[in-house]
Formats: sequence, structure tokens, C-alpha cells
Amino acid sequence: MTRAQDISLNPRPTGITLQSEIPICQGDLPLDWYQDEFKPYAEEYIALPDRTPENVIPWLDSYIKPAQEHFGDSLLLLAHYYMGGEIVKLVERYGGKVADSYALALQASKNPEKKVIVESAVHFMAEAIATLANDDQQVWITNPKAGCTMEMMAKDWMVRPIEEQLISKYGDDLLVVAYMNTSGRIKALAGRTGGAVCTSSNAHLVVEWARKQQKKIVFIPDEHLGRNTAAKLGMDISKLVTLPNPLYDGIDWKIEDIDGIDAAEMLLWGGYCGVHTIFTPEQVVWWQRKNWRVLVHPESTLEVVQAADGSGSTAYLWNEVMDSPAGTKFAVGTEGHFVRNLKEQAKTIGVEVMHLADIEEDGISTIGGCGCATMSRNDPPHLAGMLDLLRKGEAPDLNRVLAGDTVDETTAKRERLTGEERTVMISDAKLALERMIEITEAAS
Ligand code: SF4
Repeated sequence: MTRAQDISLNPRPTGITLQSEIPICQGDLPLDWYQDEFKPYAEEYIALPDRTPENVIPWLDSYIKPAQEHFGDSLLLLAHYYMGGEIVKLVERYGGKVADSYALALQASKNPEKKVIVESAVHFMAEAIATLANDDQQVWITNPKAGCTMEMMAKDWMVRPIEEQLISKYGDDLLVVAYMNTSGRIKALAGRTGGAVCTSSNAHLVVEWARKQQKKIVFIPDEHLGRNTAAKLGMDISKLVTLPNPLYDGIDWKIEDIDGIDAAEMLLWGGYCGVHTIFTPEQVVWWQRKNWRVLVHPESTLEVVQAADGSGSTAYLWNEVMDSPAGTKFAVGTEGHFVRNLKEQAKTIGVEVMHLADIEEDGISTIGGCGCATMSRNDPPHLAGMLDLLRKGEAPDLNRVLAGDTVDETTAKRERLTGEERTVMISDAKLALERMIEITEAAS
């Protein structure tokens, strides 16, 4: 069941705090992973005697506090729940907000007094904020190479040729639902087809609305969220068709060659999240046999979601655990940093949390507690450097996020739209984002 607090625009503070002597947990990135402008900060960070808050905080304070004084109330720091390296705790410590992708996307438009918005999360999240921002608000990402591996399976150059085939076959009868984990260009495609964006917290509301439009729905890019949403809505799962994954199958295929495409009510793009597809029904049952409740994110497979006791967005997982009575035990199947932070916070209310994959038994265990590695490319030196460079007026333009930007996660090569192209893209993407907001707010 979706509760208002699980799709809230005003995320409640996580409450998690840094503990003295416990290291800020994230492996240091190699120096050559930093942009030249960020290397001096990384060198200083690496030279600190250790990663305990006693050493890291004074170093961070020396850069972040002057930036806060300089920008005053116009500065907004944001992070996603999945951030590793305690960025979640650091961002909250400096007055910032930690949220899921839905609430993050709305932070610029809901806080017009914030003019400099610095995000520590993946690029599509920063781009969604930029798409909804006012002209006088700037959005910056601490590391532009922080991409989402699911989004990388539906780049616009991958989707465009398939979109052309689908539109030429189905014309106005086609409607795209774009998961938040897509670039602005794909969200714009959803807008152009009369579709909407969705997040894991509102996918059921958006797909339910899309079905009422009586069109063929294309759900991009997460096949698992698409299938889980269809199952939740009671749709006939056997009539869903999963399209090939461009990363493995290329984009030179013809839609005529896909079985069942005409009869399908919804087509699922073949993307997935490597962090959420490690879970198995056997792991779920293993915990349930020990009387632990199992909660999973709906980017997990259908079999896992159906075996679990509950599934939902990051906000749902957090709230479900934190609203439980003392003594409850949860195995949670989602991103590793999030589960570690949740475990720590739940301990304060007497609730036990383990990562779903954290099982040491032959045949069931996996790599256990897998984190979102690309998101965690935003680390303390990136945060310190970004704020210091902004204060000095020397921030690299590569870190500025405009709607329509695409950044290669390996080379950091950026492709930026012209002003005119961006205006059109924003208007189409906004249609899809605003439709999502309308549908979600009407339901809550
Ligand atoms: S956890 Fe998966 S879907 Fe989420 S940002 Fe990371 S790679 Fe993308």
C-alpha cells in the first residue's frame, strides 16, 4: 500500500549521524579518477591520517563552511539515499536534504529561493532537478561521471531508432512511460507521446493512468519495475513483451521480429539494475524461515517481489522499517549503502535490519550488500572541491547540469543541446514530469 509519507516532496530527515572513531566508509578513489580541478582536494583527503570524523569533518568544514557563508540561504545540498561514503550523513550534517529520486526532482521548483543546488547522486537525478528548475537556479553535480547503469541501457541514441519503428507502426496509439532513471531526452519522448514519467513510488499510479488512455504502453528502461507494476495492477503478465537490451543485443533489430508485440498491452524495455537483480527467492525464504520480514525494492525480479513480505521505493523501505515496533526484524533487498544506514538507524528504535543477500550458506549466498558503485563516485573530496570551487567562481562547467546534457560515464565527454533544442526538450520533458506530479498528487 502506498502511504502519503512514501511519496512525500518533503523527505523526513534520516536522523543518521556520524559516530566518532567510526571511519567514514568508502574506499578512496584513485587520484586519476578526479577531474584536474578536484585533484588538490583529493590529494589532501588521501593525506589525512585516517577517515574518522575527527579528521574528516574539520577538513570538510574548512571548505564547506566558507561556501555556506558565501552563498547563505541560496545554497541547497542534496543527496540520494544510496550514496555511499557517508555522504548522506555529511550532507544532512551541513543542512542538506537526503531523498529518493521523486522528491529530489522537485527540490529546485519547490524551493525557488535556492539558487545554487549541489547534488551528490547520479547524473539523471541532477538533470531532472535542472529540468524543473527556474532560470535563475543553477544545478551542479559533484561528479559528472556518476551515472546509473540502468540509464546507460536506454541512452537516447539507443531508444531513438526503436522509437521511430514503434511510432511508424503504432503512431498516436503509442504512449511512453519513462522511469525517473532515464535522461531528460527520454523523458521528453514520454512527453511527446502523451506519456508520463514515473518513479518506483508512483509507477502503479502512472501505469494505471496510462492504461486508461487505451494505448500501447512502452515502459522504459526497467523491465522488472514494469513487470512488477503490471502484476500489482492485476495485468496479464503473459501478455507483456520484453524488448531486447541494446547493451547486449544492439539496436539493429526490427520490431516485426519480436513475438507478441501487437497483442501486448505493455512493452518493457530490456534494462535492469545490477544492484537489484542479485536477489533470489531462495534468499527471501531463508530469512522468512527465521521469522524475519523481507522487504525489497521493485527493481528486483518478479519472483523476488512476489516472495517478499513487502516491496516499494526507498522511502517506503525506510518508513516501513522506522515505523515498526521494537523487536521487529527485517531483511531488506536494495542498495547496500542504504541498508547499512538503515540498519544503523533502526538499531536506535530496537529494530534489527540485515541485507537480504547477507547470507553465509552454500548455494544461497551472493556477493552480499552490493552498493551503487557509480553513485558513490561522489565522495567527500568531490563535495569539498565542488563547494570551494563554486565559492571561488572557478567551478568547472562540466559539473554544471543543464537539461538535455548527456555525459559519458567513462570519458566524461559531454554532449550539450543548443539553447533552442533544450527549450523544446524541457517543454516535452516537463509535460511528462508534470503529468506524473499531477497523477501522484491527485492520488495522495
Ligand atoms: S542502484 Fe541501480 S538503478 Fe539505482 S542509481 Fe544505482 S545503478 Fe541506477
